[in-house]
Amino acid sequence: MSDKDFSPYQVAVIGAGPAGLFAARELANAGAQVALINRDIKAGGLAEYGIYPNKFKMKDGLRRQFRQILDLPNIHYFGNLKISKGSELDLDALRGMGFDAVLVAVGAQGTKWLGLPGEDLPGVYHAKDLVYHYNHLPPFSGQHFQIGRRLACVGVGNVMLDIAHWAVRELKVDELVALARRGAPDVRFTKKEMETVARNLDLAALDAELERTREATMAAGQDPEAARAFILSALDNAEERVSDTRFSFEFFVSPHRILANEDGEVRAIEVEDTTLETQGDGRVKLVGLGTYREIPCDTVIFCIGDRVDAELGLPLDAWGEFAKHPEPRFPVAETSYEAYDPESGAALDGVFLAGWAREASSGLVGTARKDGTSAAQAVLASLGAAAPRDADAVTALRAATATLAEPVVGKAALARLEEAEAALATERGLLEFKFDSNEEMLAAMGKLLAEQG
Ligand SMILES: Cc1cc2nc3c(=O)[nH]c(=O)nc-3n(C[C@H](O)[C@H](O)[C@H](O)COP(=O)(O)OP(=O)(O)OC[C@H]3O[C@@H](n4cnc5c(N)ncnc54)[C@H](O)[C@@H]3O)c2cc1C
Repeated sequence: MSDKDFSPYQVAVIGAGPAGLFAARELANAGAQVALINRDIKAGGLAEYGIYPNKFKMKDGLRRQFRQILDLPNIHYFGNLKISKGSELDLDALRGMGFDAVLVAVGAQGTKWLGLPGEDLPGVYHAKDLVYHYNHLPPFSGQHFQIGRRLACVGVGNVMLDIAHWAVRELKVDELVALARRGAPDVRFTKKEMETVARNLDLAALDAELERTREATMAAGQDPEAARAFILSALDNAEERVSDTRFSFEFFVSPHRILANEDGEVRAIEVEDTTLETQGDGRVKLVGLGTYREIPCDTVIFCIGDRVDAELGLPLDAWGEFAKHPEPRFPVAETSYEAYDPESGAALDGVFLAGWAREASSGLVGTARKDGTSAAQAVLASLGAAAPRDADAVTALRAATATLAEPVVGKAALARLEEAEAALATERGLLEFKFDSNEEMLAAMGKLLAEQG
């Protein structure tokens, strides 16, 4: 790190998930004043509201690190504050307050859909909304989700297994089928995550499905036996079975539409059979075979990743990601952290991207942490190249938020909330207790809410 004195510089970091928190730490350690703005009352993002609730040890360890970051005196926390286009506080207003740089680390809050007929039926959901629900993030925590007994999950990654974990071990549904566009060798989950539900695998159905898709798998140069061995390797350390849920896979199928019964309820997902074809240039391409069939279910859950939230007001690129400058002025490890407007071909000066806001659904907490740190290094390099703006931006932000209808939460109030939830957990003999609504959280903070830290 350079010896430059960054104390006259003020940076707004939007989003206090792992990327924003570790970026804020890097900036604060360099001496800058950091306003850390977060939509949720609590910090942590998906580390708090995404990681499966029973991973207590991992979540607690992360919370401890996040608390240490928030304790840094030059980090000023503004929780319960959403930055969005058209609201009182949008990106332009923030930049107008005089921040020397704005680092966007808001994660990927949008949901990805396939645009199929029937996606709007009750009983069709995106995994992230459910993940937020069972992790007690308002307002999802209070939302009713119509989950039936026969679930079809589209996607075969770790998020599908988190949903399977919830459905098999908590809801104890009758059936869960995971749909994959490709074959068994292309599943994207880890053995560790499979261990939570492996004992519910219908082994006869798995073997029948591997046999049915053997030819297509081998034609693509893949080994069905190795795929079988990988899936079944989770049985060695699998958690004990707690329900009769039948868990199975359908490989080489592409969702085509979701079908309803006469009451407008989901009755099946129609899929098209697919295969992998080797092209003239040697590349393998997924193609539909034009044959369709119905897989009966009453709930469909899309576990196919997330997308960024266009409502934030940053320009998007052709892939729907926040656009990055193709020729960054301050690259870190040959990566661009700089926001960009593809239409005008101009940089968004002083605006940087980190974590899942830079690349949606990419990697675990460790990746987001590294990305946040690197993005902060890009910010510091840009600050080093310019004189500080002559403005007290943090004070201006505090003044602007003092009159908002929704109270903004500071560090002292956040600490009080943690104490209140810990006391309730002890009282009720639980490992953890979380309020389900912002109202309850704000009430628990009491008058400390007014004392912004
Ligand atoms: C279901 C699921 C399970 C996972 N399980 C694991 C696991 O077991 N282990 C692991 O290591 N990783 C896991 N991950 C991945 C990990 O959670 C992510 O890598 C990481 O949280 C991404 O960090 P981020 O800071 O980029 O985004 P996020 O964690 O999404 O944080 C974004 C933050 O920005 C805030 N924000 C959003 N919009 C705005 C706005 N407009 N204004 C102000 N603030 C805003 C949000 O409140 C949030 O605090 C999981 C992810 C998912 C989806």
